[in-house]
Amino acid sequence: MKSWIEVPENSDFSIYNIPFGIGSDDGEKYVCTRIGDQVVNLYNVAMTGFFKGTVDDIEVFNQPTLNAFIALGKLTTRVVRLRLQETFSNEHSPLRILNNVFKPFRTVTMHLPLAIGDYTDFYSSIEHATNAGKMFRDPENALLPNWRHLPIGYHGSASSIVVSGTPIRRPNGQTKANDATQPVFGPTKKLDFELEMGFVIGKETQIGDTISTAKAEEYIFGLVLFNDWSARDIQAWEYVPLGPFLAKNFASGIAPWIVTLEALEDYRVKGPQQEPAVLPYLQYEGSKNYDIQLEVVITPENSEPATVSTSNFKYMYWNMCQQLAHHTSNGCNVRVGDLMASGTISGPDEHSLGSMLEISLGGKKPFTLPDGQQRSFIEDGDTVTLRGWAEKNGQRVGFGEVYNLIESARQS
Ligand code: CA
Repeated sequence: MKSWIEVPENSDFSIYNIPFGIGSDDGEKYVCTRIGDQVVNLYNVAMTGFFKGTVDDIEVFNQPTLNAFIALGKLTTRVVRLRLQETFSNEHSPLRILNNVFKPFRTVTMHLPLAIGDYTDFYSSIEHATNAGKMFRDPENALLPNWRHLPIGYHGSASSIVVSGTPIRRPNGQTKANDATQPVFGPTKKLDFELEMGFVIGKETQIGDTISTAKAEEYIFGLVLFNDWSARDIQAWEYVPLGPFLAKNFASGIAPWIVTLEALEDYRVKGPQQEPAVLPYLQYEGSKNYDIQLEVVITPENSEPATVSTSNFKYMYWNMCQQLAHHTSNGCNVRVGDLMASGTISGPDEHSLGSMLEISLGGKKPFTLPDGQQRSFIEDGDTVTLRGWAEKNGQRVGFGEVYNLIESARQS
C-alpha cells in the first residue's frame, strides 16, 4: 500500500497504522487519526457521509474521548480503519478535495484519548521483577513464590493519568531512610519512570463474567505507550503489606494515540517459555507477544537528549491475554476505556532496563549523560520521553511518544 498523503521515511504513522486519538485545533475536540504528519478530523470526514452504512450515528466522532467510538465494537471500528486505509491509498479518494479534514500535526492539540474508568498495573516482566525484587527485598529470592503462577497486579488511580506533554510536579511524600529512626515528609529524592505499554478495553463484561485467554483479544481495542511515574523512596517505605499507593498515583503519562490490535497483527511473536506450567485458566495457544521496540530518552533542561534504554515489548513473561483472563477470573467486570498496563518492560541486558531504579542499581551506579551530568533518578527540569514502534519488511507501525517535563515539588 502507498498513500497519496506524504509519509516521511521512518514515520510511526504509515498507511499500515491508522491509530485513533482525540484532537482539537480551533474549537471542539474530535476523534482523529494520523497519517504521516497530518492529523485527520474524522468528524469532518463523517459529516460528508463517508462512513454511511458503517457508522450510522456520526456523533461518536464528535466526542471528547474515544469511548463511544470504541464501544461500537471491533466489527465496526475495524471497518472504519480499513476504509480509511483504503481511501488514503486511493488516488481518487473523495477526501482529497476537502479542506477541513487534514491538519498539520503541529497545529493540533492532542488530548487524553479516553475516559479511563479503571486502571490496573501489572508486574509482568520477569527481568524487571527480578531486578526490583533484588533491590527492594532479597537478592537470593528476588521473585516471590507466587510470581511464576499468576500475573501480579494492583489497582491504580485513573484520575491522575495525563496525556503526553503535561508537566508533572515532583510529589511530596513520606519516606524513611534505612539509617533513620523516624520518617520525614518532603519531595521524593528518587523520582523514576517506568517504561510500559498499556492496553485499552474495547468491550464490556458483567459482574460474574470471565474472559478466557482464547477470547481475550476480542476485548482489547488497542495499545498505547504508558509511563508509570514512580517515587522509589516513598514506595520502599509504604508498599508493605498492601503494595503500591502514593508512590505511584501522583501521575502517569499516556501517549495520545491508541494503536489497534489489528495494526499489530504482523508483529506477533511467541512469548517466553513459562516454567512451571501455569494453571489451565492461564494457558494459551498461539503467539500472544508483540515485537515492539521501545526506547527511553532523558533530556535535561538546556541540554541534549540521551537514550538511556532500548527495550522490547516481546520480553513480557505474562501476555495481555493472560493478564485479562486473570483479571476477570474472579468475575471482576471490565468496561470500555479501562486501561491495563504491562508493568515495567525490562529486557535481558543492561541496555534494556525500563526504570532508573534498575539502570542506576538503586542509585549505586549513576548513568552518565552525554553532557557529563549524572543521573541516578530523574531531576527537576528533565523531560522523559518514551517511544515505541514495530517494524518489519519496510513497514512501520509506531506509537508516537509520551513525554513529561518534571517540575519542582510544591512547598510542603
Ligand atoms: Ca508500574
